[in-house]
Amino acid sequence: MTDWPRNAHTIHRLELADYLKGVSIRIPYHVVRGAEDGPTLYVQACQHGTEINGWEAVRQVLTAVTPDRLRGTLIAVPVANPIAFHARMHGYPSMGHNMNRVWPGDANGPFPPHRMAALLWDNLITRADAVVDLHCWADFSIPVAWSNEGFEPWILAFGTPFLFELQYDASMRMLQNACYEAGKPCCALEMIPQDMINPDSAPLGRMGTMNLLRYMGMLDSPMEYPADRYLFTPGPVDLLPKSSVEGMWVTAARKGRLVREGDVLGHIYAWDTHDVLETITAPMDGLYYMDRPCVTHLNHNLVEPGTEVACVREVKRVLRPEDGP
Ligand SMILES: [Zn+2]
Repeated sequence: MTDWPRNAHTIHRLELADYLKGVSIRIPYHVVRGAEDGPTLYVQACQHGTEINGWEAVRQVLTAVTPDRLRGTLIAVPVANPIAFHARMHGYPSMGHNMNRVWPGDANGPFPPHRMAALLWDNLITRADAVVDLHCWADFSIPVAWSNEGFEPWILAFGTPFLFELQYDASMRMLQNACYEAGKPCCALEMIPQDMINPDSAPLGRMGTMNLLRYMGMLDSPMEYPADRYLFTPGPVDLLPKSSVEGMWVTAARKGRLVREGDVLGHIYAWDTHDVLETITAPMDGLYYMDRPCVTHLNHNLVEPGTEVACVREVKRVLRPEDGP
C-alpha cells in the first residue's frame, strides 16, 4: 500500500483499467498528511454525478487544511464516480446504476459502480477511522446530515443544523451501511440542490468535515456550530399530511423551522379559479422538513387526492453551540 508523504498535500489516482474493455477510469484523490501522526478521515463527494455541492465542499476543505496544522491524515475524493459526473447524471449509464447501493463494492462486479466502489473501499476507506459521504438532494427539503446508528456523538459533532441517526438496514448497500458493518463512524450530508453549486449549502459540507477533523483531534481550531442544531427522528411516515383534493399546493410556512400541531402549513388552490380547496395543518409538533410531495417525489406542486404534500419530523433535542457534541 502507498505510503503517503508526511507533512505534504499530494494528489494521486486510482485506476480501473478495463471499463468497456478499453476505456480506463481514473479516480483522483488528495492526501493531506500532517507532520504528526494521528487518525485518518476519509471524505468523498460525487458518487452521484449531479451532486456537485460536495465537490465544492471538498475544495473548500482542502483550501482550509494545510499539513502543518494537521495531526494525522485527510483523504479526500472530489469525484468518486467520474463517469456519472462527466455525463452530468445521478448514475451512469442510467439512474438504476446507483453507486450508493453497491458498497463495499465488488472488484469483479458486473457494472462500473461495483468496481469503483471496491477500488475506493479497498485502497482508501479501509485505512480510515471515520468517513464523510457528501450528497445533494432537491431543494424541497432542508440540508440534512445523519450518522449510522449508535454514533450520535459523531453526528452532533458534525454539527450542521439538521441531524439524525439512520437505522441500519442490511439490504441497503449504501456506503454508510458498509461503514456500520466495519464499525466505522460515517456521516452523510445531503446539501441542496443538485446540479448547481449553492453558496449557502456547500459550506455545510466544509463545516461538517472540518468539525469531524476537530472532534478527532486532528485540528486544534474551535468547533463551528450554527445557533441551533436540531436532532430529529426520521419517522413517523403515517403522519404525513395528505391532500384530499386535486389542486395546486402552496406552502405558507418556512421549511427548517419548528411548527406546532395545528399550525397552517399551506393551502391547496383550485388551479383555475384560485379558490382555497383545502388548508393543510401540521399533524404534530416538530420540524417542518419538506414543503413539497416527498414520498411520491413528484417534482411539481399539482397534487391529487392522497398525495403527501409536506413532511413534519419529531424533534428529539435542540442544541446550542455551548452544548458541544
Ligand atoms: Zn447522492
